[in-house]
Amino acid sequence: MRAHEAGALHAEAAGRGPTWLQPPDDTNALVASLWPTHVSRRADGVLDVAGVAATELATQFGTPAYVIDEDDFRARARSFRDAFAGADVYYAGKAFLSVASVQWVAEEGLCLDVCSGGELAVALRAGFDPARIGFHGNNKSESELRRAVAVGVGRIVVDSYSEIARLAKVAAELGVRQPVLVRVTAGVEAHTHDYIATAHEDQKFGLSITDGAAFEAMEMTEGLASLRLLGLHSHIGSQIFDTSGFEVAARRVLALYARGLEAGFTLGELDLGGGFGIAYTTQDDPAEPDELARNLTEIVAHECRALDIGVPHLSVEPGRAVAGPSTFTLYEVGTVKEVALDAGASRLYVAVDGGMSDNIRAALYDADFSCTLASRRSDADPVLARVVGKHCESGDIVVKNEFLPGDMEAGDLIAVPATGAYCRSLANTYNHIPRPPVVAVRHGQARLVVRRETEDDLLRLEVL
Ligand SMILES: *Cc1c(COP(=O)(O)O)cnc(C)c1O
Repeated sequence: MRAHEAGALHAEAAGRGPTWLQPPDDTNALVASLWPTHVSRRADGVLDVAGVAATELATQFGTPAYVIDEDDFRARARSFRDAFAGADVYYAGKAFLSVASVQWVAEEGLCLDVCSGGELAVALRAGFDPARIGFHGNNKSESELRRAVAVGVGRIVVDSYSEIARLAKVAAELGVRQPVLVRVTAGVEAHTHDYIATAHEDQKFGLSITDGAAFEAMEMTEGLASLRLLGLHSHIGSQIFDTSGFEVAARRVLALYARGLEAGFTLGELDLGGGFGIAYTTQDDPAEPDELARNLTEIVAHECRALDIGVPHLSVEPGRAVAGPSTFTLYEVGTVKEVALDAGASRLYVAVDGGMSDNIRAALYDADFSCTLASRRSDADPVLARVVGKHCESGDIVVKNEFLPGDMEAGDLIAVPATGAYCRSLANTYNHIPRPPVVAVRHGQARLVVRRETEDDLLRLEVL
């Protein structure tokens, strides 16, 4: 348990917010680090996105809605590309994939990662150059592999002996020499504030360096005429804030890489994966792409010097750090309920018109978010609130703890920032609540990029 979580539990028992969460002087103030670049508050208190009022968006597109500051998304993509100028940046599409996001990524000069046939289909529909696509996954089917090879996917990250054999057969049948990376397990698993350097090999991804499986997979690939071994791939986790986990992983993967060179394998590339953290609350302090690039390239250069090998061509795969901060979810408030806690304290439960169907991260990972009143100014005193959804689960929480003005009422709009990654892509239709639309705003114009699901969409799958 993280320190602030322990503090939160302790303070919550006493009916207050987590200790790190202090009532703000002014609930109308926006914490800049949590919001997309072009979000501000107008004089009347209404949130403004690139020149469009949140109230207008709600009228035009309904709520809930995912609202993307398109220039923010593009700028983050660009800043990774520029920071890693000598390397390739693959946007990890699973964070948020749509035809529009694929086109933005293409226009900003990034490559793209997909990890299923469905994701590949979206990329192809968007006209993305297959040669710039990487294909991941621990259990790609033969038909997924066949399609990827047939359309000319630039690299396939192989994850098991059986997949290597399957892919070699498919590629041979299609007369292709398919470039591949071998995904290795470096024995490091990093998340958020900590990383564990032991006992993490017990998982489904990758081939272990320690038990020799990774080397054997390289050997096997080298021996198959329809495959071309490009290099190695390692992805250590998600929402990571410091580079020490990458350092341990890079050291181990490069040692294997050097062994491969010694064995005469045609290696030239190293992919260090993604997982770069973003700010969900004021507790998170993510590094800028420049700093990440500097640290990672230094780590790799240092290890290569120590091993006396040439520096491989690098690639990284940010997903969350590109898509996450660009988006907020706009909800309308329905029921507001004051619930008594111990010691005379209370908590305001603010229910919105979505919940775990459009943002399952709190339920799935106990994730923290923040939020603000988006449709007006309020000078009411701040009260400790919890924003909940409308689903039939008490774990249906969107924002566990936030100070909101005490006069929240039905019809108010609430905006939850940092919902651009793993919210729409993990959205579901629990309780048959249709999934929200995605609206991109740029230069004073709002554009629907994914429409709202309808009851007809839900009923279309019924066999009547
Ligand atoms: C999910 C994933 C990523 C992206 O992770 P983020 O935390 O979104 O940056 C990158 N590479 C691989 C292999 C992944 O599975």
